[in-house]
Amino acid sequence: MAETKEYDITIIGGGPGGYVGAIRASQLGARVALVEKDRLGGTCLNRGCIPTKALAKAVEVLAEAKHAAEYGVKVSSPTVDFRKMMERKNTVVNNLVSGIEGLMKAGAIDVYKGAGRLVSPARVAVVGQELKTKKVVLATGSVPARIPVPGLDLPGVVTSDDILNLTELPKSLVIIGGGVIGMEFASIFGALGTKITVVEMLPAILPPCDEELARRYHQMARSQGIDINVSAKVKGVRQGQDSLEVVFDTAKGESVAPAQMVLVAVGRSPYTEGLGLAEVGVTMNRRAIAANEHLETNLPGVYAIGDAIGGIMLAHVASHEGEVAVENALGRRRKADYSAVPGCIFTNPEIADVGLSEKEAKDKGIPHKVSKFPFSASGRAQTMGEAQGLVKMICEEGSGKVLGVHILGPRATDLIAEAALAVRLGVTAKDLAHTIHAHPTLPETVMEAAMAQLDGAIHVRRM
Ligand code: NAD
Repeated sequence: MAETKEYDITIIGGGPGGYVGAIRASQLGARVALVEKDRLGGTCLNRGCIPTKALAKAVEVLAEAKHAAEYGVKVSSPTVDFRKMMERKNTVVNNLVSGIEGLMKAGAIDVYKGAGRLVSPARVAVVGQELKTKKVVLATGSVPARIPVPGLDLPGVVTSDDILNLTELPKSLVIIGGGVIGMEFASIFGALGTKITVVEMLPAILPPCDEELARRYHQMARSQGIDINVSAKVKGVRQGQDSLEVVFDTAKGESVAPAQMVLVAVGRSPYTEGLGLAEVGVTMNRRAIAANEHLETNLPGVYAIGDAIGGIMLAHVASHEGEVAVENALGRRRKADYSAVPGCIFTNPEIADVGLSEKEAKDKGIPHKVSKFPFSASGRAQTMGEAQGLVKMICEEGSGKVLGVHILGPRATDLIAEAALAVRLGVTAKDLAHTIHAHPTLPETVMEAAMAQLDGAIHVRRM
């Protein structure tokens, strides 16, 4: 095998973990190789966060056009051009992929197109050559998980990867799994006119969410026409006479949901196939690569980050880990900091959270106080015509330290940034309440929820 250049760091995987790590390593003066078998940007950019958000925006435009008359704007009845919608989504993705390619060039990062394999802690094989390297970062991400039920290979049964390549809108869609992926697609395709049925095994959808918010969103989704079955475990998919049929067990017995298409959204599994980990002796934690808080594997000089280590499978966590891993690889000593990881769900309305939920605070026996502020009392939310939902804040009793913030409502995913900073820095409700927030803006709802921890919110009676 031909041996080429020598690197300080070789990163396998060019997603939001790997490419961010590569940029940071280059900024720190390292000679960097990035190995990627597909397009740069990984799942997030090509098959996840970005394409779905481009579609979510299209749905927002559709909703605004449909309700334009309420704002005193006359438009003729809007219709969906699904191909055009998908084209715009592709353009957004392509622009961002080009942007990352540009950043690689600017950082003098050598990008190798092909599947990387660890030959030893100091050698990585890719497309017929071996790269000599001082350090390696494994950042190979994840793939859609499968469940062991019959019928998932039938035509029309798709994953979140496949559904983003459709050229025609399905008339009906059964979604197996009421988690983040399932509910985001339910929200998008439901708004476009597809008849949606969600089948979720657990007693509630969006299992990681604060129970109250998940319950409230469940009601909103149902009022949008999304049919949701909970405590419903899928046993299999079969071909019926005119459609696919998803068979599931409920407390009342077996049930069948017919649909033109079935989306399987039951989680994601770390992807480490063909990496040569067993041969080199990398310790695994079931399917995930085992890494410590410094993102080191058991092999000195080999680090692992992102979905491949199976922790919190979020793009922004992978990016954080990418920075931490390369800094450690280049001689610094930094721990990954998971003290304030925002979670964002781009449904309609959006859901976002950071820190402890009310149940977690209870389960941990932490004396706490819960306050709430509804978007119906926000001037900005009213002007936007999006006044559903609430901000819920959990603070430590006595100290007033913000332990968690949970938001269901307009731009929740943007609003959570202030809350994440609050949780990470250990600021108090008083700090938030005494910070002047611009009027009329949505962040005032966070300030008001903090005020409700103290003497009371201004624009609402006690909730
Ligand atoms: P998930 O774990 O959030 O949800 C999967 C759901 O499928 C669970 O609720 C589970 O109970 C259900 N399920 C499993 N087996 C089932 C069966 N046989 N019948 C019925 N239901 C079943 O996983 P996901 O939604 O696939 O998302 C995967 C990962 O991607 C998660 O880590 C998620 O956080 C991440 N993600 C994040 C975002 C975001 O931050 N906006 C968006 C998409 C994905």
